[in-house]
Parts: sequence; C-alpha cells; structure tokens
Amino acid sequence: MMNLTLENIDSCSLSDLLGKSLDCQCGKSHQINMKKVVIEQGAIAKTAGVLQELGYKKALLISDSITWDIAASKVAEVLTENNFDYKPYIIKGRIIPDERIVGDLVIHAEHDFDVILTVGAGVLNDLGKFVSFKLGIDNIVVATAPSVDGFASQHAALVIGNLKISYATACPKAIIGDVDVLKEAPMPMIMAGWSDLMGKYSALSDWKISRIVNDEYYCDVINKMVYKSIQICKDNIEKIKEREPEAIRHIMEGLVLTGIAMSFIGNSRPASGSEHHISHCWEMVALEEGKKIAPHGVQVGVATTMITKLYKKLAAAKVDFAKATGLAQKFDQAKWEKGMENYFHGNAQGLIEEIKADKRYSVEKRLTRIQKLKTKWPEIQAILEEIPSSEQISALLESAGAAAKPQEIAIPAQEAADSIRMAKEVRPKYTILGVLDDLGLLEQFAEEMKADFS
Ligand SMILES: [Zn+2]
Ligand SMILES: [Zn+2]
Repeated sequence: MMNLTLENIDSCSLSDLLGKSLDCQCGKSHQINMKKVVIEQGAIAKTAGVLQELGYKKALLISDSITWDIAASKVAEVLTENNFDYKPYIIKGRIIPDERIVGDLVIHAEHDFDVILTVGAGVLNDLGKFVSFKLGIDNIVVATAPSVDGFASQHAALVIGNLKISYATACPKAIIGDVDVLKEAPMPMIMAGWSDLMGKYSALSDWKISRIVNDEYYCDVINKMVYKSIQICKDNIEKIKEREPEAIRHIMEGLVLTGIAMSFIGNSRPASGSEHHISHCWEMVALEEGKKIAPHGVQVGVATTMITKLYKKLAAAKVDFAKATGLAQKFDQAKWEKGMENYFHGNAQGLIEEIKADKRYSVEKRLTRIQKLKTKWPEIQAILEEIPSSEQISALLESAGAAAKPQEIAIPAQEAADSIRMAKEVRPKYTILGVLDDLGLLEQFAEEMKADFS
C-alpha cells in the first residue's frame, strides 16, 4: 500500500499508479484495474512480453486496414516471432461502431480467446472494450494515434439504433503506445488529442466550483496530477508541432493519465466538464441531422475556447444575487420542458425524467446554490481568474493549425449559442453553465457569444 500526497504526486510515474489501492490525502483510496502502461519508442516490440506477463494465451487481434498497415502488421510479426497464439481480424472500410460490427467481431471471436488486442485509437478502442467486456475477456490496446482521452476509460461509445450511447465496460488491462508510431500520426489527430487535453482546464475548474457550491467530493492530489500533465502539453506545443518524441509521449501520457484519474475518482470529473457537454450537444444534433462532425478532440478544443470565454465573462460581470434569487423563485417548469423538447427531440423525455428525479432545478435547491455562490464569491472569482484565457487557448490552437472557432468546424453561430444554453442538461454535473443559469446570466451570455461567432 502506498500513500498519495500533494508532495509526492509529482514524482509518481504512471506505473506507480497501477494495479494497487492507493491511500490518498483526500481521505479515499484510489484504484484502477489496469496492470501495465508502456509508452515509449519501440514499445510494439514489447507486446508479446506484456501479453505473456499478464498470463494470456490467445488473442483476437483487431484493426482496420489503416491501423493494420501502420502498426498491427508489426504487432502480428512480434507475436509470431514470440510464438504467441493469435488470430487477426481486419475491419474493412469506414467504421461506425454499430450493431453490425459488434456482431461481426463476436462471430470471429473463438471460444479459447482470452484477450482482445485492439490496434487503433478512438472507435476501434471502444469496439475492443465493448466486445471483450461482453465476451467476459480482457482488452489490451496498442494506440496508433494520441487523439482521444478515452484510452483508459471504462466507457465505450457505440452507435446503437442510430443513437450514440456510452456503455460502462472495463478499462483495458494494458495500454501500449509506441512513440515511433504515435509521432507519425496525422497532425490533425495529434492536435485532436492535444485539444482534448486543453479541455481539462475547464473540467478541473468546473469540478472545483461544484465542490464549493454543492460540497461535491473533490481530490486535490488528482487535480494536481492532471493539471501538471496538461500544463506540460500546453507548454510544449512547439515541440509537438515538430513531432518531437518526448512531446508526443507527453500527450499520450496525458490522455492515459486523465483516464486513470477518472477511475480514481469514480466519475469523469477530472477529465470532462462543460466543454465536453457542449461537444455532446453537437454530437446529438449531428446524429439527428445525419451530418458529419469533427473528431471528438477537435470539438472539445473549440468548446474549450467558448467555455474559457464564459469563465472570463463571468469574472468581469457584475453579479446581482438579489435578481438571481428573484428569477429562481419564478422558474417556469412548463417553459423549460418545452425548451428541452424543442432542442433534444427524441432524447428530451429521458433527460427531463433524470433532471426531475435529481430535483436540480427545484426552487429550494437553486436558492441554496445561489446563497453558496454569494457567500463564497471570492473563492469562485479566484477560480474564474485562474483558468487560461480563451484568447490564449485560441492562439495556441491556431498556431498549430487546429480549429478554434465553431464556424471552423461547421457549427453555425446559432447552434453554438444554443449549445451554450442547453449543454447543462446533458449530464448531471454542475459546471460554469449551471452557475450562469443560477445567476440568470446564461441567456444573455449565449446571445452575446453568438455575435462573436458570426
Ligand atoms: Zn485523492
Ligand atoms: Zn474528451
């Protein structure tokens, strides 16, 4: 048993955090059911060793045609050379993680496989996690691009019945990131991962706000761990653009680390806040309208520039708590439900039921939050001021040729403004958007932001 403290967290390596229960200064013990992370140049050569060390005998090796060429074929060679039994399955064409592909993978899984070895990034990793979980076996991922924060998470996002659904599965037992492969990933994918990491600034700040307003559980040690990791990535943008191996390793480690942090906390607070909720809204609209949308990390980067702007707008605003209290007492449930139906259509009813159940918009709960915001305003102000500015994040994104504004990823001004209004409904987490709503500023800010987007 090891202890985690604010003092020693900086000297912990990723491996120090795996596979055991860690008593933490926050009063809880943290744990992730992941055994091994290897992120280094030439890591693919260690694949067979990792599988053997963890006691596996036979793998289903899944990839698509692209990841086969860039990495899975090398993985296959390594397994063959080391006499590790496996069967490759290459998914052809563009992958939508739906019923058909899940079915295909189950059909190709033989009864004596004891692990799925997924070679890929976002979608493939989700499929590997989901199918292995359903088959009752483990999953190991060999990452081909540092493009998403979902590698170490327990969740798998699939498209079932044309709806994007997040399923609870299990985190991979091991993550292998060969920096020689990762650094050759297309720059937009690398920047997507980097952008996703920049979203942690608002995720962490939202979490801190909710701790103050709702007494939500919070861990300083995990906050520090994630913050340090994203700070390194932010400061190394120039080296990332040059594909320097160390800098690319930092992105991959950051992406894995945020997943570990989620397991440690037991929810996605350290990795996902209002910026991810905005992105969820865009995904829902895109799916409904059948239009293509930018990759996850890219959306999160853009949403982060919007959310950090809202943070700074609130920092500069004159907050009228008496007016907020008056508005809270006049909350119009029917009007709110109508707004939900107009925006979320088929998903509205489910969300309305959830929100009614947690009573987050009851007059009583809202007044309690407003009172807390009022008495703790200096602390809230400090959080608003500490987050990097929207201009800073935008400039970094633009310097690397990544999208920074909604119009650059085909999100019209109206849709961007609407997502600011509605994103607080997609998850029960309290964020800056909930603060603005409680203070009666959300509508005004959304409208003012809309002018910026056109
Ligand atoms: Zn802790
Ligand atoms: Zn993300």
